[in-house]
Amino acid sequence: MTLHDFIRAMPKVELHVHLEGSTQPEAVLHLANKHGIQLPADSVEGIREWYTFRDFPHFIEIYLKISECIRTVEDIEWLGREFLRGQAAQNIRYTEFIYTPYNHFQQKGLSGDEQLNALNRARAWAQQELGIHSAMILDIDRMVRPEEGMWTAELAVRFKNNGVVALGIGGNEVGYPCSLFRTAIDYVRAHGLVCIPHAGETVGPESIWDALAVCDPPRLLHGVRCIEDAALTAELARRQIPLDACPTSNLCLGVYDSFASHSLPALLDAGLNLTINSDDPPMFNTNLTEEWLRCADAFGWGTALIERLTLNAIRGSRQSAEYQAQMEFELKAEFARLRDQYGV
Ligand SMILES: [Zn+2]
Repeated sequence: MTLHDFIRAMPKVELHVHLEGSTQPEAVLHLANKHGIQLPADSVEGIREWYTFRDFPHFIEIYLKISECIRTVEDIEWLGREFLRGQAAQNIRYTEFIYTPYNHFQQKGLSGDEQLNALNRARAWAQQELGIHSAMILDIDRMVRPEEGMWTAELAVRFKNNGVVALGIGGNEVGYPCSLFRTAIDYVRAHGLVCIPHAGETVGPESIWDALAVCDPPRLLHGVRCIEDAALTAELARRQIPLDACPTSNLCLGVYDSFASHSLPALLDAGLNLTINSDDPPMFNTNLTEEWLRCADAFGWGTALIERLTLNAIRGSRQSAEYQAQMEFELKAEFARLRDQYGV
């Protein structure tokens, strides 16, 4: 038995993964056939090939095509189930996932309430049938107009105690700081909801400083480029704000050339609170299990560190202190049992 077997078997927690960006080739083919939509390929292998990351414009093209194939609330519920089934198959016990409802409203007229009710049905099914607990972060795509961002903020507040745990800010970071959406962010915060933005991925420390000032976030999606600014790194370490890192996504988007040059070891040395995540798994040819395997191989991570970062994720989740404590207890017991079982 090896560390790889241990990683495959271990209980997991994921906080930074996009629902639409998790659409597997089989799923996009199913939806395209259902609605008579032409895709660039008509086989799983062909779609996998088309999915292979080339550059950001191609990545957006795929995202838009997937979005075009999602036409009804039934599609959204089905996709939610497929996503949670894939998460549960990796032994992910709790996942927060990011969803961008405005696209589906703008393109297809699906109301926000209908969309979230569909996802709540999928979440309840997954909790009941697969034992996976989940919650949603509703994302504003940075390229929409600030007033359009308010549509998502109002929806997030309406579902605050009904599946939604945060407002997110995502999409193209270059030229679109969080401060553009200050009104939407202030609105959700005034209604008791947090904002968890993407920052410090394709833009450096200035984007994270902006996010800290505007959102006062309990967590950051990515955040890995804080390492370029010693004062910022020290601030994030002092406040122990979890950074939901996605190593393979960073490599695909050219933030780093290779695992060897990734900032993860330096971030750990600096005492930062890290979690490991997959972002848009099929588009980056990964999933959470793969991310752990790759980190273990590249950085020589052992079970103690892997357990610590998994516990960071449950403590960084937007769940109650009671839920976190119970999960922490269960995760620790299971890690101990698996360590014995696998002899690692
Ligand atoms: Zn992301």
